[in-house]
Amino acid sequence: MKILIADAFDASLPGRLAPFGDVTGDMGKLPEAEVLLIRSKTKVTKEMLGGAPNLKLVIRGGVGLDNVDKEACKARGIEVMNTPKASSVAVAELAMALMLAVPNRLVEAHNGMKEGKFLKKELKRTELYQKTLGLLGIGLIGTEVAKRAKAFGMKVIAYDPFVLNHDVAQIKHSMDEVLKESDYLSIHTPLTDQTKGMLNRDAFAKMKKGVIIVNTGRGKVVAEQDLADALRSGQVGAYATDVWSSDPPPPDSPLLAAPNVLMTPHIGASSKENLLRIGDIVVEILEKRG
Ligand code: NAD
Repeated sequence: MKILIADAFDASLPGRLAPFGDVTGDMGKLPEAEVLLIRSKTKVTKEMLGGAPNLKLVIRGGVGLDNVDKEACKARGIEVMNTPKASSVAVAELAMALMLAVPNRLVEAHNGMKEGKFLKKELKRTELYQKTLGLLGIGLIGTEVAKRAKAFGMKVIAYDPFVLNHDVAQIKHSMDEVLKESDYLSIHTPLTDQTKGMLNRDAFAKMKKGVIIVNTGRGKVVAEQDLADALRSGQVGAYATDVWSSDPPPPDSPLLAAPNVLMTPHIGASSKENLLRIGDIVVEILEKRG
């Protein structure tokens, strides 16, 4: 079996896959590859598949499959698999880290110290305790965030068209209810035709003034220019995001210049432990195929 590892996995993975055949990280070997391992960086497009005549299986280490043209794979008889359960804790912990960093003013405090400024009086903190967290999407990751937010004493509400009841969160039957009631809003939906741009000017106008939005879902769920405008006007208090309309965002992304944006470079799934879990699942998949 010829295996091509296109994206960043745990360093142990090539060695673990060696018993299954030839393993390479050289994209020049795409024409020979039978199995392609990707995360979110590599885009599996129709054009790319044109250069991969021997491909039989694409494994996406991670959750979303929005970087894979599933129809084009299907048309070619190429199987597509992912590792949907591995990343929930890793992403939920980053969502909590972002959610804690904003009201605790961690970045301003740290930067101030580095600049020799002791901003004890200037930096006013607020607490998560007794605030309402609204989750958009309460699948695997949303559920892990809900449990952690509960432990902080937050009231957790959620909108998810496919979830009617939940053990931890109170399910609201319209997104508007969640938008109106939330002090914090955390995005955990996939990118679909329905979710693309769903947080736009109209949606921001329905939210509480000063709402803090955390996005570890997908960048394109927010309309970036509308969000930059809402941050400037103060309608949105802060936007803490791990995800972008593209990786990396273009230099003229309106969010890079907007105030009160806390940014990470799409590292939600990149914990050491998660990369090992993803590797375990990739090995299991290949073992099952014999
Ligand atoms: P999941 O499938 O378990 O949960 C997604 C939930 O979103 C589902 O319950 C689904 O019903 C719900 N949903 C779908 N359309 C919706 C809509 N219009 N409004 C509200 N809810 C809707 O997936 P998951 O494992 O929880 O992952 C969620 C998303 O997180 C992924 O699709 C991916 O985009 C993102 N993700 C990001 C990172 C990262 O590195 N930041 C890593 C992994 C996953």
